[in-house]
Amino acid sequence: MSGMAGGGIGCSPAGAILTIDLEAVAANYRALRGRLGRAACGAVVKADAYGLGVAHVAPVLFAAGCRNFFVAHLDEGIALRLHLPREAIIYVLHGLLPASEAECLAHGLVPVLNSVGQVGAWGALARGRGRRLPAALQVDSGMARLGLAPDEVTGRLREDLGAVDLLCVMSHLACADTPDHPANEQQRLAFDALRPCLPAAPASLAASSGIFLSADYHYHLARPGAALYGVAPVRDRPNPMRPVVRLEARIIQLRDVPPGTPVGYGHVARTTRPTRLATIAAGYADGFPRSGGGRGAAHFAGVPLPLVGRISMDSIVLDVSTVPRDRLAEGSFVELIGPHRDVDAVAADAGTIGYEVLTSLGHRYQRRYRAAGEPSP
Ligand SMILES: *Cc1c(COP(=O)(O)O)cnc(C)c1O
Repeated sequence: MSGMAGGGIGCSPAGAILTIDLEAVAANYRALRGRLGRAACGAVVKADAYGLGVAHVAPVLFAAGCRNFFVAHLDEGIALRLHLPREAIIYVLHGLLPASEAECLAHGLVPVLNSVGQVGAWGALARGRGRRLPAALQVDSGMARLGLAPDEVTGRLREDLGAVDLLCVMSHLACADTPDHPANEQQRLAFDALRPCLPAAPASLAASSGIFLSADYHYHLARPGAALYGVAPVRDRPNPMRPVVRLEARIIQLRDVPPGTPVGYGHVARTTRPTRLATIAAGYADGFPRSGGGRGAAHFAGVPLPLVGRISMDSIVLDVSTVPRDRLAEGSFVELIGPHRDVDAVAADAGTIGYEVLTSLGHRYQRRYRAAGEPSP
């Protein structure tokens, strides 16, 4: 296994292997930055870098030039701080929970202030410490999720913000993966209307999909997550990002069955001809979505192997009848996610989105990281 860093090589044989291509993450970062022109490109690494391992991913992004990182929880920020040099700014998107202000400051994290109360609490801490403290401010431009409502942007708020070193004013788009959705422009105009009512600060509106809207959406700083990890940023369009994950699972049993054989829980599938079945070592407990049962295929040497019946907790049954008998054996690997079926395709077959497939990837897989800068295997 030359060229593979980390991931427990030399351990007992893995039932399934998740390969994470850090060179592809770096390439995706450079590609997004290239689209942005003069705007800076940050990186969202919440949820353990969308399940891929923030301790591996964040330093690669820093080396690629990223200086603005975003996590959701304070705890994620505290953990991330250990993996990044001081000059990296780490924003906590969830803002400040009551009584968490001092801890946020102590770890050198920048809260995204989402409410009048949070602005007040951060301002009070700043006055107590006798200096202005860095923060971002989020306004709600039309998603009703996080951030100040337009009517909360008042003179009183501006006064409280006097104690804050405002690094960024941000908002988030609800429909950016659909470029012609009218909400995109409505949100952009609402954001533009609010900015002059706030202290001057760099602005940030675009996440992955927003980067693929016009340059009007780029402002000073973009916050991509999913596209860095290979998820398609624009619905119904070819995916311009490089795939990052590959999931391979081993065949743990092969059997030949006659026509009419019921397969798996609930007997929801039944063979219609003599069939060779392979049971592989990955299931919904590994985050492979159960709702994708009976749809799509794994692949072996490019040959599709349809999923048969329900997905079990630890295993999936495949129809491998089309592969010559001598090519497959117990222990052979098949590809569940990879060049032949990407995360978005797996997600579509399961009625979900690539984001959910990535963030659900389990921890039973042996993980292998391909280092940034390594040539393709
Ligand atoms: C998760 C998140 C992002 C990243 O979104 P992607 O679609 O994954 O690029 C950006 N901004 C905010 C506020 C988020 O919550």
